[in-house]
Amino acid sequence: MSGIVVKSYKEVEGIRKAGRLLAEVLDTARAACVPGRTTSELNDIIEGYILSHGAKPTFKGYRGFPAASCISLNHEVIHGIPGARRIKEGDLVKIDAGVTRKGFIADSAITVPVGEPSGEARALIEVTREALAAAVEYVRDGNRVGDLSNAIFETANKAGFEVVRDYFGHGTGIALHEEPNIPNFGQKGVGPLLQKGMTIAIEPMLNLGTGRVKLMDDNWTVVTADSRLSAHFEHTVAVTENGCEILTTNV
Ligand code: MG
Ligand code: MG
Repeated sequence: MSGIVVKSYKEVEGIRKAGRLLAEVLDTARAACVPGRTTSELNDIIEGYILSHGAKPTFKGYRGFPAASCISLNHEVIHGIPGARRIKEGDLVKIDAGVTRKGFIADSAITVPVGEPSGEARALIEVTREALAAAVEYVRDGNRVGDLSNAIFETANKAGFEVVRDYFGHGTGIALHEEPNIPNFGQKGVGPLLQKGMTIAIEPMLNLGTGRVKLMDDNWTVVTADSRLSAHFEHTVAVTENGCEILTTNV
């Protein structure tokens, strides 16, 4: 990790352009999450979209990661490696990708339900999305990382879900992972100060059962310790003069 990097207006503009492209990439990937398609084919669609728009998939080769995206199914939390597995009806497909465009980086993730997910799966997805939105509400110059962490934790906790404590959100924009870490739990009013020009990736990971996770033998895929479902949403946002701007959106 490099230190906290405060970006200039021009740098934020570069990250915004990467973020808009990434939003399109994830929209395309969402539409491509259909039963019968392998996760490797889904990754090819993602990589093709990024490359054909003159950008690079940030994750490919990052610490040796072999693909353009992380695709994690059901009880897999993050860092799933695309492969021969076929998406099927009822799956929760977590797609996490990064775009590097003209040297600027954006990082975002979505959870896509395929077909008709169970009631508890739908609730988990909805609350994870709400946890991200709740954290975004606290992003402003002068607030602290603990305010975001606490918002995520409280949103999960009220709904009876657990947060993953071993993996964090992070600064991003020039390097994929910059300081500060943004845990999915924490105390209000503590932690690094948010300053105008910081760009951060906020990424709640919520589990139906235990928050504990384990690493699989491939040394990448993180799964829930009890094999129950997990959901993940992530946006890269900028701290602005008056609050926050979500950069990984095209609306
Ligand atoms: Mg990500
Ligand atoms: Mg991230």
